[in-house]
Amino acid sequence: MQGVGFRPFVYRLALELGLAGSVRNFNRGVRIFAQGQAGNVEQLIRRLRQDAPPLARIRELTAADAPPNEEQGFRIAITDAAGAPDVDAAPDIATCEACLAEMRDPANRRYRHPFINCTDCGPRYTIIRSLPYDRPNTSMRPFQVCPDCEREYNTPTDRRFHAQPVCCPECGPQLELLDANGVPTGTGDPISDAAEHLAGGKIVAVKGVGGFHLACDATSPGAVRRLRRSKYREEKALAVMARSVEAASRIAHINRAERALLESPERPIVLLRKKGKGILADEVDPRSKFHGLMLPYTPIHHLLVERVPYLVMTSGNKAEEPIARTNAEALDKLSGVADLFLMHNREILTRSDDSVVRHVAGDAVIMRRSRGYAPQPISVGENVDGILACGPMLKNCIAVGRGELAYVSQHIGDLTNLEAYRSLEQTAEKLCSMLAVEPSLAACDMHPSYASTRFAESLGLPVARVQHHHAHVASCMAENGLEGRVIGVAFDGTGYGEDGNTWGSEIFVADRAGYERLGHLSYMKMPGGDAAVKYPGRMALGALFPLMGSDVAVIVPWLDKTEAKAVVEMLERGVNVPLTAGMGRLFDAASALLNVCSRATYQGQPAIELEGAADPDASGTYPISLIEKHGQIEADGAAVLAAVCEQRDAGVPVATIAGRFHNTVAELLVKCAVEARERTGLRDVCLSGGCFQNALLLAKSVARLTEVDFVVHRHRLVPPNDGCIALGQMVVAASRNSDSGPQV
Ligand code: ZN
Ligand code: ZN
Ligand code: FE
Repeated sequence: MQGVGFRPFVYRLALELGLAGSVRNFNRGVRIFAQGQAGNVEQLIRRLRQDAPPLARIRELTAADAPPNEEQGFRIAITDAAGAPDVDAAPDIATCEACLAEMRDPANRRYRHPFINCTDCGPRYTIIRSLPYDRPNTSMRPFQVCPDCEREYNTPTDRRFHAQPVCCPECGPQLELLDANGVPTGTGDPISDAAEHLAGGKIVAVKGVGGFHLACDATSPGAVRRLRRSKYREEKALAVMARSVEAASRIAHINRAERALLESPERPIVLLRKKGKGILADEVDPRSKFHGLMLPYTPIHHLLVERVPYLVMTSGNKAEEPIARTNAEALDKLSGVADLFLMHNREILTRSDDSVVRHVAGDAVIMRRSRGYAPQPISVGENVDGILACGPMLKNCIAVGRGELAYVSQHIGDLTNLEAYRSLEQTAEKLCSMLAVEPSLAACDMHPSYASTRFAESLGLPVARVQHHHAHVASCMAENGLEGRVIGVAFDGTGYGEDGNTWGSEIFVADRAGYERLGHLSYMKMPGGDAAVKYPGRMALGALFPLMGSDVAVIVPWLDKTEAKAVVEMLERGVNVPLTAGMGRLFDAASALLNVCSRATYQGQPAIELEGAADPDASGTYPISLIEKHGQIEADGAAVLAAVCEQRDAGVPVATIAGRFHNTVAELLVKCAVEARERTGLRDVCLSGGCFQNALLLAKSVARLTEVDFVVHRHRLVPPNDGCIALGQMVVAASRNSDSGPQV
């Protein structure tokens, strides 16, 4: 991987062992010639793995004899630009401890330097224009290094040896503080000025690694309220940057694994259970049991949080638009939101949002895979070379295949947004050119009207269409290295099914090339289509209508009477009532029946809040009825909802009912898996789909499946939600193409 200080490491090792020769990048990685005492050469080979720098990952190491030559000493050969760039682009890495120590040392020439970095840290993917990763191919190109920085860059023993973004206050990018009209303002110390404004309750747009943030003091109710209102963010929680782990643990419960996630070089936002009240403004995340917390990851952040220990750091956009990337975009799109702009003249070349993770039952669940993770490739164990997978419609990301590696892009977002669609086009072009991949096959969803499907069709390549939930299961198989047949479980909100209906509670027997649909929820009626997603009370009526007929009108007491009547009429006439088997819709309906959430202001809100409302220790399940139809198992979701209503009306606490509802869904899953095992003898279960972002459901499912002797596989490298779809599409397309691939 480039940009992680691997060649300097080899150089120092060779010097230490008294070896002559060279180290150079070539088109498949790094090549080392070493000559000297045989024992020392062997030691070099051993220590390459053992002592490699923290960010370096050695995928393959081969050694062969070479004829000796006259070379004296050891040198780092300049990048071999002749070969096709075939080494990985490194992700963006949080400022390291060594750089922070220098930044805080008044005697250091980089004291308070807002762009300090070294070979172990700093921006990478977001400043790279093309590979090989050398300064002229990055947005550092316009900044001419000063003699001091140049010396460091050329000194093999220096921490900044070949650090491409090396710079100092003399030669690096410059910060600037602008007022709401885009006019420079302040005392000439932009960081201190911005920090003062933040402390005074102002909203500042801050240029980060992959785009702008909107920042304000998270302890100020007024500032947070104003930010919410002007950003059109109704109820979704806002991310907060805490000065330190200590500051974070004052407001949230943090276990060892969560602490490790917070402090990891990827520096994601980590979902952490709230602790008490009173420090952060309620307006930050009023309806959530969790804070989304992260630690500072750029020098600018570190300098700002010295003054303001808790900063709301939400993506710099309005509503669901992509995050602002260029200075011009920020000034244009965030005017009317930001009071001030803290920006600089180093360009961000690739937009990349903050990543979001949580820790569930012994492992991390990535909910948004972006800055820090992208574009780290995932080894899929089969040839995917030349496949461009275009991903789903919402939570889109794409993937480009090279060799047996899948390069999964940063989070691109919701393609109903035109800007996001442009981002998709640009990302496809950039990833392909960076990796020198000429796409030969486009993989996409089966849904005919997804923007990503249309993009795939526009490329003039053969197109492989992949069923959405098969892609879910295949991606889980790929990242867990599974080749044969498995029991695949995909629980999510929506996905186009082969019968033209919406699927989303799939129990498959699948391999990478194909699948058989073994079970799912009985289809539920969705009065008004998307309106039932936005107003989950309607979903409850639709799901229970077949059971209760027009009596269903009174089942959601907090639903407006006229609205309920209109919905029932719609159901009776059967007009504009599509069918869905989405597990997410069952969660929506339960959430509405319990009055936990009756209007979704963002995707997944009713289910997220139902998880928050549930007592994790509640025991008991509701009756589950499985009906066999044409060899497929149907699970009756309406019966579960009816039990929820009954208990609600009997006065059972909402927390208990919500907990039992989760138990019931996990139990339903186990029953279907047992049925699948009886039919096939398979024991491996792959869990995928947005529902498995739900910590309670995931933990309960894993525990129960393990109890009855299944081997459970879950996502670790990509999200269980639609952020995994591109990877899955790629793997399915590749397996269908290969003759040797097993078929179901
Ligand atoms: Zn550093
Ligand atoms: Zn300099
Ligand atoms: Fe999905």
